[in-house]
Amino acid sequence: MLKNKTAIVTGGTRGIGFAIVRKYLENGANVAVAGSRQESVEKALAQLKDYEGNVMGIWPDLCDQEAVKEAFLSVKERFGSVDILANNAGISSRTSLYDYTVEEFTKIMDINLKAVFVCSQAAARIMKEEGGGAIINTSSMVGEYGQPSGCGYPATKFAVNGLTKSLARELARDQIRVNAVAPGVTKTDMVAALPQEMVERISAGIPLGRVGEPVDIANAYLYLASDLASYVTGIVLRVDGAAMN
Ligand code: NAD
Repeated sequence: MLKNKTAIVTGGTRGIGFAIVRKYLENGANVAVAGSRQESVEKALAQLKDYEGNVMGIWPDLCDQEAVKEAFLSVKERFGSVDILANNAGISSRTSLYDYTVEEFTKIMDINLKAVFVCSQAAARIMKEEGGGAIINTSSMVGEYGQPSGCGYPATKFAVNGLTKSLARELARDQIRVNAVAPGVTKTDMVAALPQEMVERISAGIPLGRVGEPVDIANAYLYLASDLASYVTGIVLRVDGAAMN
C-alpha cells in the first residue's frame, strides 16, 4: 500500500510508534525512525534487520526548527522523498492541578504540541515541492473528553485536533492531507505494566471488551497514509473500541 513512499515516524522506537514503523515497512515504504536518543533509535533499528536497506534513524530535538529541517532533508537525500509524516512522539501526565508546575506544563506542551508544529512545517516544505503528502498526528480519546487529572495532557491533544483541522485546510491547496488518529487505551509498555485485574477492569468498560493493541492503531495510520484515504483530510479518527474515559 505504500510502495515507493518514504515515511518519517516520530517516537518510532517503541510502543505505537514502533508498530507504525513496522506496518509501514511491511507495506513497502522506506521509513525514518525518529527518536529522542541515538541509543534508543539504534536499539529499534536492530529489531528491523529484515528491512535494512529501507530504514534509517534520526534523532533531532523535535522542537528545534533547524535540527528537524536538517534531519528531514537527510531523509529526502537518502530515500529521494518525504511523503508521509507520522507525528507520534508524546508523553503523558497524571499530575493533579494542585501539584502541576509550569515546567511540567511547558514540557508536555513542547513534546506533544510544539514538536507537531515544527515537524509538520519541515515536512510540508518538502512535500509541497514534491506535489503532496500525508501528515498524521496523534491525538487521544482524552482529546475529546478531557481527563480527571494531568490537565496538560488532554490540553495538548485538544490542540493537536485544532492544528490538524487547520493545517488540513491550509495545506489542501498543496495536496498535503492532514489527519489525526485518536487512540483509546492501548497496550504499550505503560499499560502492559499495569496489574492484570486493572487491565480487566479497564477492558470491561470498553464496549469492544478489550484494550487496543499497538497494531490496531498502526492500521489506522496505514489507512490515512495510503491512497485509500486520498479524499480524506481534516479528520480525527477514533480507534478506541467506542471507549469513553
Ligand atoms: P511510549 O511511551 O511507549 O512511546 C512514546 C514515544 O515517544 C517513544 O518512542 C519516545 O521515545 C518518544 N518520545 C518521548 N519524548 C520524546 C522527545 N522529547 N523527543 C522524541 N521522542 C520522544 O508511548 P505510546 O503509548 O506508544 O504513545 C505514543 C503516542 O500515542 C503518544 O503521542 C501518546 O500520547 C499517544 N496515545 C497513547 C495511548 C496509549 O494508551 N498508549 C492512548 C492515546 C494516545
